[in-house]
Amino acid sequence: MESQRPTIVVHGGAGEWKPDRQNLGILGVKRAAKAGFDVLRRSGTALDAVEAAVMMMEDDSTFNAGLGSSLNLEKSVEMEASIMDGETLKAGATALLTNIRNPIHLARIIMEKTDHIFIAGKSAQRLGEIFNLEKANPVTKLRERHWLDLKNKIRQGTSGYLPKLSNLMKSYPEFMNADTVGAIAIDQLGNVAAATSTGGLTFKIPGRIGDSPLIGCGNYADNKIGACSATGIGEIAMKLVLAKSACCLIHKGYSPQEAAEILIKRVNQAIQNTPNQMGLIAIDKKGRIGAAHNSHHLCWSYMTPLMKSPKASLTAKIVKSG
Ligand code: ASP
Repeated sequence: MESQRPTIVVHGGAGEWKPDRQNLGILGVKRAAKAGFDVLRRSGTALDAVEAAVMMMEDDSTFNAGLGSSLNLEKSVEMEASIMDGETLKAGATALLTNIRNPIHLARIIMEKTDHIFIAGKSAQRLGEIFNLEKANPVTKLRERHWLDLKNKIRQGTSGYLPKLSNLMKSYPEFMNADTVGAIAIDQLGNVAAATSTGGLTFKIPGRIGDSPLIGCGNYADNKIGACSATGIGEIAMKLVLAKSACCLIHKGYSPQEAAEILIKRVNQAIQNTPNQMGLIAIDKKGRIGAAHNSHHLCWSYMTPLMKSPKASLTAKIVKSG
């Protein structure tokens, strides 16, 4: 897919979007792409654009990030996010947040105001307080209903302790509803950035951290190459270091579309007999974009200078096994 500068691509997660939520997903990713593109159009940086786009989706309870985050095994929320600046390779990441309204903003503060990259848990919450970040209760009625529904199904279907999330997911495909959010962009100067934010997998064991805040796994940006944001089962993205791998393929000369498809194929080959839902969006330093997934859906949107409004879809290139 050819493109030009500035350009933004966002996703609202891989997984299965039920018909009654599809419209909300499409509207939400379009709004986010527009918010990010407005920043770029005003000569804002790619970093500001991806942050604005992700914040828009964190504030939209349709998505599993910020408000409306998934509930863990203990019925509470632990949010995580990361942001990366392709110009400097600086990055910020955070996890195990319970009530910060915009985790991506805290990730940016960690990147810009500390000497570290990844701060999680109570200290991250404390940092949010020091920087006067807004707090909000991320738990929504919809997620509570979803959680109770799953709990009942688990009760009916199994007895005793459930040792592995993957076993759980085999029996309960709803676990794989991944509606994490992410954004990648290139600005007018050719700088790229990536941002990814999530509540993580429903019913995850408290303390579990996924790919989204891990630089290289769920999120990566490098001006010399491009940027990538991943969504789906975090453990798969971690095993295959997907976001950085996409950038490596682009560095080798593949287009972002080819890179995304090659990696989803690799996921299909490497991950068998366990739940497998992944989606990737990628951009290169020329502003060419790509998107591929093996999940039912990938809710995504993009906008370039040639477009009056963002384009959005529930699917991109679907790469199936075999
Ligand atoms: N990758 C996220 C995680 O595993 C989930 C998602 O993409 O929705 O935490």
